Amino acid sequence: MRQYLDLKEKHADALLFFRCGDFYEMFFEDAVVAARALDLTLTSRDKGKEDAVPMCGVPYHAARGYLARLTEQGFKVAVCEQMEDPKLAKGLVKREIVRVITPGVVLDDEILDPKLPRYLAALVPAGKRGNPAVGLAYLDATTGELCATEIQVSSVLDELVRVGPREVLAEAAQLEGMLAPVRARYKMPWNPAVVPALEAAEAELGTLLGGSGPQRGAARSGDLDPAERPLAVRAAATVLAYARATQPGGTLPVTRLIGYESGDAVVLDETAIANLELTETLIGKKREGALLDVIDQTVTAPGGRRLRRWLLYPLIDVAQIRRRQDAVGWLVQRPALLEQVRRTLSRVADLERLAGKATLGVATPRDLGRLRDALGMLPEVMALVKTGATKLEPVPGLLDPAPPPSAGSLPSGLAACGDAALPALAVRLGKSLVDEPPFLVKDGGVIRAGWDAQVDECRRLADGGKDEILAIEAREQRESGIANLKVRYNRVFGYYLEITKSNLAKVPAHYVRKQTIANGERYVTPELAELERKVVTAEETLAAREAELFKAEVAAVAEVAAKVSAAGAALAVVDVCGSLAEVAARRGYCRPVVDDGLAIEIVDGRHPVIEAILPEGTFVPNDCRLDPGAEQLVLITGPNMAGKSTYMRQVAQIALLAQIGSFVPAKAATIGVCDRVFTRVGAADNLSRGDSTFMVEMRETAAILAHATRRSLVILDEVGRGTSTFDGVSIAWAVAEHLHDHVTARTLFATHYHELVALADSRPRVRNVSVAVREHKGEIVFLRRVVPGGANKSYGIDVARLAGLPTKVIGRAREIMSRLEGGSALGTSAQLSLGAVASPQLPLGGIAAQPSPVIAKLSAIDINRMTPLEALTLLAELKSLV
Ligand code: ADP
Ligand code: MG
Repeated sequence: MRQYLDLKEKHADALLFFRCGDFYEMFFEDAVVAARALDLTLTSRDKGKEDAVPMCGVPYHAARGYLARLTEQGFKVAVCEQMEDPKLAKGLVKREIVRVITPGVVLDDEILDPKLPRYLAALVPAGKRGNPAVGLAYLDATTGELCATEIQVSSVLDELVRVGPREVLAEAAQLEGMLAPVRARYKMPWNPAVVPALEAAEAELGTLLGGSGPQRGAARSGDLDPAERPLAVRAAATVLAYARATQPGGTLPVTRLIGYESGDAVVLDETAIANLELTETLIGKKREGALLDVIDQTVTAPGGRRLRRWLLYPLIDVAQIRRRQDAVGWLVQRPALLEQVRRTLSRVADLERLAGKATLGVATPRDLGRLRDALGMLPEVMALVKTGATKLEPVPGLLDPAPPPSAGSLPSGLAACGDAALPALAVRLGKSLVDEPPFLVKDGGVIRAGWDAQVDECRRLADGGKDEILAIEAREQRESGIANLKVRYNRVFGYYLEITKSNLAKVPAHYVRKQTIANGERYVTPELAELERKVVTAEETLAAREAELFKAEVAAVAEVAAKVSAAGAALAVVDVCGSLAEVAARRGYCRPVVDDGLAIEIVDGRHPVIEAILPEGTFVPNDCRLDPGAEQLVLITGPNMAGKSTYMRQVAQIALLAQIGSFVPAKAATIGVCDRVFTRVGAADNLSRGDSTFMVEMRETAAILAHATRRSLVILDEVGRGTSTFDGVSIAWAVAEHLHDHVTARTLFATHYHELVALADSRPRVRNVSVAVREHKGEIVFLRRVVPGGANKSYGIDVARLAGLPTKVIGRAREIMSRLEGGSALGTSAQLSLGAVASPQLPLGGIAAQPSPVIAKLSAIDINRMTPLEALTLLAELKSLV
């Protein structure tokens, strides 16, 4: 217990998995917590005694599953192993913490999702009061990817949602203070950043950054200047130091700190990422049904991770976007090559993570075997791309208006795969490791014959020993004339000769009798004893030697791990372009024209996800034109279920796809790049947010009005829906006006308040469109077609009938409706006489254009300075005006 308590003290914030033989045991509070979290039976040590210690355990061989469950629940686990064989240990078995598994630092393939990065993040706010800057860094310890930036505190939540770290570090005071609201909404484990050796990590970062001050090496794009971005660098040092502490025995595979600015990519906030269903669906948070799921046809894990990154960080630099388009287009034009490239890539293992595991020292023999085989495939991939560059395949009906693209960055991007260190490593691993190495070094049979003389010798001995036993058996049978003499083995006295009762008379004198059994006797000879010693030690020596040699192979990989990882990254880009090309070809996407203009023009656009779900050919395509000069704000009216939301989302998704370099689901498209994409879905439509309130809706709308620029794309879906009709119409109206008059962002504005169509009368850059429906024999038919002009009717009752509201209720609703429209208010409530107020005869646009004299009069008075008599006089005056 002393040993346990010592170790536990060093890792007080973690559950301690304490290895005892075939189990990991937990004690005290850890046992109580783990038993609850893992559904284990809680027992106790020294049962029955008064101070019995609660304990529970998990079998060693099943530990991974339990570790996964604990990290998923946000726990940190310190794994303590026995550092010597208990059989050989003198006194207490030596134990050490070999690694700490935290939600953000997980290295086990069985826990990791191959297509998801596993980030640990740290936040470092500026110390000074009133400074809204925050340093953010995140590290994927499996690959060594380390990124850092500085952002406004108001953007922290958005960026966290986009990055998706599984664990966030920050100083305790910040967690209680300025970061508390973010922490409340970003539901991942937050841990205080008490990190040892922060200075050491910062010093090391200096070298990753290419030195500092005058020694600073040539700046590459993405290099951070520590003098300019001290918070980002400090955050990076924090994740590094924290991650390092979890791996006492290994080196983190970090070779570079990549800095970025929020302006490098399209700004997407939490709401936009969620509403546009980029990586998961709004309802249910499922990957299936999200945009990423449709476009992700990658065949490798690094490709999947890279595509995700591309989608969440769409580009705004036109030249960069076109380079990607070129690569995708080039592959689209070479379907046979594309297929070959994809087939080849699908057999290449995850070089980024394998290189990371080697650096961390946790690579298994099987890992190195896969790494070697993957390296062996590199020349094939490079050759494919190279030959493709000289051959053009004619593709009938190709939807690509641009001239035949060059291979873009594809061949040059593959340069990293051509590093001479890689084939050298492949050759070495080919010679040192067997074709199919086992999962564990312990299993033996790792090192290939011919690589090491001692291994070969030991194997011969161990093996030859067994042969020799057969030889001895045969010889003894012959010499003694005992035909059924057997050489056998048991644990107590090793190899022995067994002779049955009827043959005892023939036993040679030099046999030493060891044991009498029911039907005979057992003997040993000096020769057998010597052989046994050799065999046993040979196996042990072999195991030790194989382990030693394997370690050297891991080190050899670690030495060039950065190059291996770079090759993996290069293949990832090919895989991503291949995936986009595959989707483009399979689904008939076109190459959009992306430029620095402000127009968005889409011909026959489709919603990439809904199109994929519906039976082929049934999705109705629609055009879209947005242009701050003419059609800046497109107001979409139409009944519920007509297709308004679908239409707006498809425009935003097409714009984002275009900006990641993808082809888009349309016949033709021009996308003037967007700097930000905003979405706001009316409270009632936003089902996913349980706490949906009008307040949230308005806060998000306020954010759009505050941050949208002329270059932004704004999607407003049923704004104002979360309140009463009058409030709702008024707010929607005012927001639309403001977007038109002041923000001038390209805006799609859907509303079922068809009163808003009048806005176009007073605002030149507002266009009305509606999603067409037809009434057929009293039934409503959705045509899904976006047509010019506003809707003149909301069809709410028709939709209600479709939804199955009883005929009686529908009938009554129609009755009330017609009375409302006729202007005869039910009861006295003015609010209910909706039809009269909102009818085109009393356009709200008119009110806004020329304020009524009554209102002018009213706004001029100051009630506090009026006598009752003056008030009465005014009232009379107003009455006469009305
Ligand atoms: P609204 O926002 O007007 O209430 P939605 O956009 O939610 O309507 O669309 C309702 C349903 O109609 C969608 O779930 C989709 O299945 C279908 N839909 C929408 N647009 C189309 C289209 N262009 N082609 C085919 N089906 C469509
Ligand atoms: Mg809708």
